[in-house]
Amino acid sequence: MTALDWPEGKRGAVSLTYDDALPVHYEHVAPLLEEHGLRATFYTNVLSLGANPEAWRQVAARGHELGNHSIFHPCRKSPRHGWLDEAYDLKTYTPRRWTDEMRAADIVLNLVDGRTKRSFGNTCCNTEIGEGETTHSLEPLIDELFVAGRGPLCDRTVTADGLNLAALGHFSGDARSFNALREEIEVGAALGGWTIYMIHGVGEGTHGLFIDPEEHRKLVEYLGGQTDIWTAPLADVATHLRGQISRA
Ligand SMILES: [Zn+2]
Repeated sequence: MTALDWPEGKRGAVSLTYDDALPVHYEHVAPLLEEHGLRATFYTNVLSLGANPEAWRQVAARGHELGNHSIFHPCRKSPRHGWLDEAYDLKTYTPRRWTDEMRAADIVLNLVDGRTKRSFGNTCCNTEIGEGETTHSLEPLIDELFVAGRGPLCDRTVTADGLNLAALGHFSGDARSFNALREEIEVGAALGGWTIYMIHGVGEGTHGLFIDPEEHRKLVEYLGGQTDIWTAPLADVATHLRGQISRA
């Protein structure tokens, strides 16, 4: 595996990403990260963000990224997506419909945070729309609209080999222990890689998928103390890598 080219003094990178615009993110997660000098990406779907746009405006103003996570949170419907109305089944989406929804979400996010560049967090980690002969990869659509896309949940650190900013592989941080996460981060840093986590709730009752608050606190304290691992929002790391790619 080939190491990615990191800023001076850094041997690897980590991005913490939190999905679905949950109140626990602005009430607890963002302030905790800031206490330890860290910033993250919050993948805010518009219908959830709309419950408290002012809280999200403040989170963004303090240096966190509000990533695009669609308006309606469409997914490829399967039996485990009982919550999803069939109107928002990605199997029925065309490229035009997908792009229009994400552009509209970007307009709302821009009104909240004033920014024009951000990353996309694939809803349900799905990387395709349509079905059968009408299947389309989201990668070219993501490339057109976003700095990067957090794509497949593949439990792999991103390295220079096969680097694809439109479909960044990542790990889940939900229901994980700090010790397991630390080990993964250290293995990733030893490869010179970029380890990306997707986390939903923090604590029981915040989301069906969640990390224990104590394990999460240990993770944040640990990352805050690692001077040679760059912990930053996904768009910041992707922008850095795009600069490296264009100079190569
Ligand atoms: Zn989501």
